Amino acid sequence: MPYRRKTYKGLPISGGIILGNVRIILPGSVRVAEVPIPVSRISHEITALDKAIAETIVELRKLSDSAGKRIGGPVSKVFDAQLMIAGDYEFLGKVKEQIKKRRRNAGFVYNLMVQDTIKPLSKSNDPYIRQMSQDVTAVSEQVLSHLAGYGQKSTVRFQANTILVGKSFTPGEVLDYRNRKAIGFLVGEGGRSSHMALIARSLMVPVAVVEKCWHLLSDNDRIILDGTSGLVIVNPTESEWDEYQKKKKRQGPATITRIKKLPAIPPKTLDGIEVQIAANLELPGPVDEILTERKFPVGLYRTEFLYLESDSFPGEEEQFEFYSKIAATYSNSVVTLRTFDLGSDKIKADGLIPHEDNPALGWRGIRVMLDMSDIFKCQIRAIMRASVKGKFRIMLPMISDVTEFDRARKLIAQVAFDLRRSGIDFDKNIPVGIMIEVPSAALTADQFAKKVDFMSIGTNDLTQYTMSADRNNARVSGLYNSYHPSVLHLIKLTLDAGRKYNKPVSICGEIAGDLMAVPLFIGMGVSQLSMNPARIFDVCRLVSKIDSKMVQLLVGSIMSSPTTASVTKKLESYRNALENKNS
Ligand code: PEP
Ligand code: MG
Repeated sequence: MPYRRKTYKGLPISGGIILGNVRIILPGSVRVAEVPIPVSRISHEITALDKAIAETIVELRKLSDSAGKRIGGPVSKVFDAQLMIAGDYEFLGKVKEQIKKRRRNAGFVYNLMVQDTIKPLSKSNDPYIRQMSQDVTAVSEQVLSHLAGYGQKSTVRFQANTILVGKSFTPGEVLDYRNRKAIGFLVGEGGRSSHMALIARSLMVPVAVVEKCWHLLSDNDRIILDGTSGLVIVNPTESEWDEYQKKKKRQGPATITRIKKLPAIPPKTLDGIEVQIAANLELPGPVDEILTERKFPVGLYRTEFLYLESDSFPGEEEQFEFYSKIAATYSNSVVTLRTFDLGSDKIKADGLIPHEDNPALGWRGIRVMLDMSDIFKCQIRAIMRASVKGKFRIMLPMISDVTEFDRARKLIAQVAFDLRRSGIDFDKNIPVGIMIEVPSAALTADQFAKKVDFMSIGTNDLTQYTMSADRNNARVSGLYNSYHPSVLHLIKLTLDAGRKYNKPVSICGEIAGDLMAVPLFIGMGVSQLSMNPARIFDVCRLVSKIDSKMVQLLVGSIMSSPTTASVTKKLESYRNALENKNS
């Protein structure tokens, strides 16, 4: 009987297309039996627990070192949290007391007490508390498998080119399974800023989240997983398999090799117009080397990941070091550093930010930083000090009102004044710009264009706010579409305002790497398209097939379209015509 074809629209976590066979790795693969023990065995159990803890710590240290080497600085901090959990001697002391009191085996008592700790954490609305519970689970599974004499959970066997499916994977597992040639992950829970997501993106391993996926699939199911859109096709047809093989070849994990092959950068349209293509980055990673070698600028550096990786806001010196390294790595090109874009959806439960019912509409982005100006000024100071080592632009997120820009600018001026007074050198002409990701900002782009040095359109948020459709909610994903004419009108308004006041305008949301939309944006006169590095190769190639005058005609036709569907149809037929012409 043929296997049943099914599709799921999941949450995209880490971009790229993969095709492979499923291997399900369920949580709790380590079983812990309850074994009564005589008094004479208590010391043996306690020694075994100490040994398992010591082995776990050694493994975590190794993982931290390996992550540090393969990916770089802050990512390896993911393991610091787990190291702290593993070495929590107060907790271990209590476990040992209970082993003595209950006269039960170490694994049973340890697991019981871990479960008691995790239960309230895992139900929290706060993603950071949930992340903590995942870290505790990860550590405890490692300890338990040592106690049981299995070694790491990584003893699980699977063939190369397997897509691993499970409830969630720890950062250590992602690193380990990736080393053992797993090509990607489908998980049941986790968000874009979870530790797993962070590691996966740094390693460029595709990941998507589909609720309860481990119930929906079976071992050896053939699946296609598109980590960029979140689409999962289970038991696809042969023609889908071929189609995605081709797509993968074009997009694939070979980002670095493909970027190497590109001719001159920046690419030029058929009629010789240069289009600047830039990268969106979150943390240092393997792609840095080729990006800098080919002189790609960084159009969006999401610096909040530096905070998300620490236990608190990183201090000035730590940030200075981080930005100095970026400046040194990208000494050939301009790096746009976005200041911390935090809100109660991303921030940790450190008591700093209260729970909000509606975080997307709440205290986030520049709003937080203007209210916590010490933290904002500390970041600006670190960026400015490092600015002499490279070429930076400062970008402010989630600006919805001109006065917010004025206030931020004033704080930046204060930092500059202090640095001058202290005789510390910095780039006096560092451009300061804003993200346009709220409709109010796009509608008043003219006012902003008079004041700012540049603008960058964040279509991920602009789409969610324009369409009133949460970008992470699969139920409204039909509405969440950047092709909607309202979103395109706001993009055009912003680009027109930039042209009027001679200010560069980039697009740095996901749509910047969308091959159907790129011709439209070139027609609208965009200055820079900044995207996930995995999209760079295809977009550069496409640019060289476009005639900039022809795409201006496309703009008129698209802007008179009433619906997402009609825009899609027109963009699709333009794309097909372009491909046919060039084939
Ligand atoms: C955006 O909103 O389009 C954007 C680039 O920022 P982020 O995805 O980090 O919110
Ligand atoms: Mg945004």
